[in-house]
Amino acid sequence: MAKGKSIFTRAVHSGERRPKPDFQPVSTPIYQTVGFFYEDVKDLEGVFANEREGYVYTRYGNPTNSALEEALADLEGGEAAITFGSGMAAVHASLLAAGVKAGTSIVSAYDIYGATYAICSRLFPELGVRTHFVDVTNLENFAKTLSEIRPVAVILETISNPLMKVAEIPAISRIVHQAGAKVIVDNTFATPVLFQPLKYGVDFCVHSTTKYIGGHGDVLGGAVVTSRKNHATLHEIIKMTGGNLGPTEAWLTLRGLKTLPLRMRQHCQNALEVARWLEGHPRIARVNYPGLASHPQHELAKKLFPPGIFGGMISFEIKDAGRAEVFRFMEALELIIPATTLGDVYSLVLYPPMSSHRALPPEERAKVGISDRLVRLSAGIEEAAEIIGDLEKALEKSR
Ligand SMILES: *Cc1c(COP(=O)(O)O)cnc(C)c1O
Repeated sequence: MAKGKSIFTRAVHSGERRPKPDFQPVSTPIYQTVGFFYEDVKDLEGVFANEREGYVYTRYGNPTNSALEEALADLEGGEAAITFGSGMAAVHASLLAAGVKAGTSIVSAYDIYGATYAICSRLFPELGVRTHFVDVTNLENFAKTLSEIRPVAVILETISNPLMKVAEIPAISRIVHQAGAKVIVDNTFATPVLFQPLKYGVDFCVHSTTKYIGGHGDVLGGAVVTSRKNHATLHEIIKMTGGNLGPTEAWLTLRGLKTLPLRMRQHCQNALEVARWLEGHPRIARVNYPGLASHPQHELAKKLFPPGIFGGMISFEIKDAGRAEVFRFMEALELIIPATTLGDVYSLVLYPPMSSHRALPPEERAKVGISDRLVRLSAGIEEAAEIIGDLEKALEKSR
């Protein structure tokens, strides 16, 4: 095609757009391209007009992202999925797709990811949306709030951050639909290995794929899994607002997803062992983990999740500790890394009042139950005894 042309033209075109191969790569390639070329321009027009499947521009869709989207839809039992550049872009878009706009109301769980709390308490109210925060584990009060507030959307997490409360999604989904609203469930902590919200009528299942799904702490991303109809709405939104996941990030996430069930098995086993050990330690005042009999929703967790697995996230309170003691404890850890993320192969600790829940005023934090002694631990996939050994030494050293 470029043969006989100048070096400028050949440098640009030589080797590109080779004949369609007659083989299939075993794993999905990274389609590192912004545009897509059709021999017949009518085909391009057909894609623009939604009359034919295909790709025109990576903000509208990319085959590498489609592979990840298909896998996520399959694991979550949904009709379709759409990937975003981060979990927060996915949360934001799902609220818009659920019909949130000026003059409407949202009901949100009060025990929710910090940035989601900020969208609901700051960003949307400035645009004329009212938000009400509720305890979603009190179903009677929850139903009453809905009938008073008449929200268009309800947003909550399967397992909440950072207190690990478990939401009774089947009942919540029914109550929300009776009130004529849409339910958005952030399933990041549970993953489809523990629970698939869409099977219980949830409208939008949201993920920060940055966490367990990517799983290696090296790629930011988000996704919404939903019905074909809601997917069409989300697609119109992402076409306008962007927020797309890049194809290389989609590829990394797809690679991570392949070992999600294997990793979750180890995360859950480790977390259960660590939680049991912490609960027996004299310096620990309280452990929040759905796998412990002391957890207020332990029976519910047993009903909702597969036998014996309760997730990889734990939070706990160190007796008589304040910010300074917690910091000393975190600095004394050698294996476990103090870092602002969760759900990857590394064991990680975080201090919610400093990070994810910094946006909450201290009185609000206290009301929600996030004390100054609270530490969040994401159990990695290392050896359980070695995670426990590190905690034991750090508790000893920071005494
Ligand atoms: C991390 C996280 C988010 C935000 O995801 P990003 O990928 O960081 O934008 C939302 N919800 C939960 C539960 C999270 O853990």
